[in-house]
Amino acid sequence: MFLVTLRFILIILTILGSQASSFQAFAGDDEIDGRVLAVEPQLCQDMKAHGVLTGRGPLTCQRLRLVEFSYVDFNGGVKTDGKIVVLDAISMQVLELFGELKRNRFQIEKTKLMEAYNGDDDASMSDNNTSAFNDRAIAGSDKISLHAYGAAIDINPRQNPFIRSEDAEVTIHPALGADYAERSTPRPGMAEPAVPVFARHGFVIWGGGWTNPKDYQHFQLDREIAEKLVELPAEQASEYFNAYVLACRNCLNNKPGMSGPALASCAAKREN
Ligand SMILES: [Zn+2]
Repeated sequence: MFLVTLRFILIILTILGSQASSFQAFAGDDEIDGRVLAVEPQLCQDMKAHGVLTGRGPLTCQRLRLVEFSYVDFNGGVKTDGKIVVLDAISMQVLELFGELKRNRFQIEKTKLMEAYNGDDDASMSDNNTSAFNDRAIAGSDKISLHAYGAAIDINPRQNPFIRSEDAEVTIHPALGADYAERSTPRPGMAEPAVPVFARHGFVIWGGGWTNPKDYQHFQLDREIAEKLVELPAEQASEYFNAYVLACRNCLNNKPGMSGPALASCAAKREN
């Protein structure tokens, strides 16, 4: 009886294993706590119905992936409901990135899909929601945002507000983030300790490094790299991005703390 039960369990495990295997991610010896899934027709439909996928940007659901992951919340507990949509070629790196943030006990308030906010970035920011894909232009411009390439992530908007100064006028989004305009006192959820983690996974640009506006919540790939990944067929794009990530790490090994345009150009040189 025991052997029969054991065999049954093994068969079930094998079936489950084969279904998940194509998307199982490992980083070194640590199995990552999460998975990468295709954007199934139902999710794709929801994204369109809620104004998250609008056709303004270059992507369709075929080139997007749903990354599910766990993270440490502001009470220090582990939440397992992390969900974010990104470009297929970078999805495994994004899964590993959130795994690394969790191991570092970087605190995140919540990560819901943009459908929950009907694609409204202000609503997502006001709810302190961490998010990625959204088919939209850059705030206050016609230029397509890297969020529409599934190649940008906004993390804890309240602790990492967007700040624009025009003449004497300063705008802060979300308004609740005003307490965090001052960056010299480290507090949980502030993006600064995550900058090297994002950089190690190919997100070389941090909006907190910009002069004006300052977008502390915003991490993105170099735009040229994102455009290249979207142009290439999915499989080639993954290979290209993995090579690029290795190039980023080589640059960082030689010069720890490198970030922004310096890291982007170092990685681009090595990758060629
Ligand atoms: Zn952003």
